[in-house]
Amino acid sequence: MRKRPASLLALYRLLEWSDRDKCLLLSVALFAYMSFVFVWHLFTIHFTSFAERFVSPEGAEVMSQVMQLNVAGWLVLILWGAALRRWRRHSVFYPAIFMSFFSIGFLLLGWTIGLYSPMTGMVLVGSPLVGFILFGFPRVAWNFAFTVLVVLLLAWLSVQGYSVHAIYFVKYPISQDLLSYYWIASTVAFMVPFITVVIILVALLLRRWAYREAQVRDQALHDPLTGLANRRELFVRFGNELARARRTEQPLGVCLMDLDHFKRINDTYGHGIGDEVLVRVAEVLRHCLRETDLVGRIGGEEFVLLLPDTELGGVESVIERCRASIERSPVTLEDGSPLLVSASFGVVIYENGEEISANELISRADEMLYRAKAAGRNRAEFWSGGAVAAC
Ligand code: GH3
Ligand code: MG
Ligand code: MG
Repeated sequence: MRKRPASLLALYRLLEWSDRDKCLLLSVALFAYMSFVFVWHLFTIHFTSFAERFVSPEGAEVMSQVMQLNVAGWLVLILWGAALRRWRRHSVFYPAIFMSFFSIGFLLLGWTIGLYSPMTGMVLVGSPLVGFILFGFPRVAWNFAFTVLVVLLLAWLSVQGYSVHAIYFVKYPISQDLLSYYWIASTVAFMVPFITVVIILVALLLRRWAYREAQVRDQALHDPLTGLANRRELFVRFGNELARARRTEQPLGVCLMDLDHFKRINDTYGHGIGDEVLVRVAEVLRHCLRETDLVGRIGGEEFVLLLPDTELGGVESVIERCRASIERSPVTLEDGSPLLVSASFGVVIYENGEEISANELISRADEMLYRAKAAGRNRAEFWSGGAVAAC
């Protein structure tokens, strides 16, 4: 499984943050954004000829109030969130007020500069997108529905003449033949930071999802103690290997392995040492096998080894290597003394495209394992075409 990148780690885990921390982060971003719009507004009305031509005096006044409200509101939300964080508290009201204020703040801004602008569209698309991912559908959906209704209501009111459309402007600067490059550039400047943050957040969240999915998949298919394939994964791969061996008429070595007197190890040294033995044995097996081979832990101290495209002679030498390596790889006990373990193996070679299931092959291997145990352990017994051989 791919490792997480070390950088951006905290932000990368955004999905796991509490609602309080998500809202606090977004409040900081929105405070910065609204401050930027406020500064733009002050600059525009004091220093540009655009304002002389297009900005209405009462619109400028309304905009100043709207931006003061926005900047102050986000500041309050930052302080509230920081205080909650400081005192390690959470409040159901904080995210609720955050979402409501988001809608109100942007609605007022949109109403001031014109609701039929690309910016309104962008906010209406970008915000619920991030909101659904961060806070879940139901909570954001109500807010979104309310906002859309208000947008439609305001649009209807302005069409009916009850409300002034884009009160900020004397003449709407791009609906007239007097096209303003200053206004177009300003629109782009408003949109770029917003859309950048939306894209970064969505990209981070999607990556986080992909990582989580890989993690869940990994956990579903592997044994947590040894990291080997678990029973489910092993039997899926076994089915595939068997089908391939049947199609290509290649042999497939199937081996069931069981540690010897493992109960005694547990009883004498405790389960902790027993687990250490299992981890050590898993390491040894991984080491002894090829990339294309597969080893899985299917029960307490029972392992299955699959050796595709391997003839009897090859399987014999691999199993002997595993057996000898386990015997030579002790776990060190607390007093420094080595704890030696051994394992018994029951092996069957699938060949000649025989019609047999994975379970039947495992039963044959189990029979051979039983034989190996009965014959004194720390050995392998082979079933090959009905003949039984010891190793
Ligand atoms: P044999 O040589 O006949 O296989 O003897 P054995 O003692 O190994 O017998 P058996 O295979 O029946 O014993 C399995 C023991 O494995 C029982 C249980 O105490 C232990 N065991 C099963 N799962 C785990 C595990 O996840 N961790 C540890 N530490 N022990 C386990
Ligand atoms: Mg057992
Ligand atoms: Mg055993």
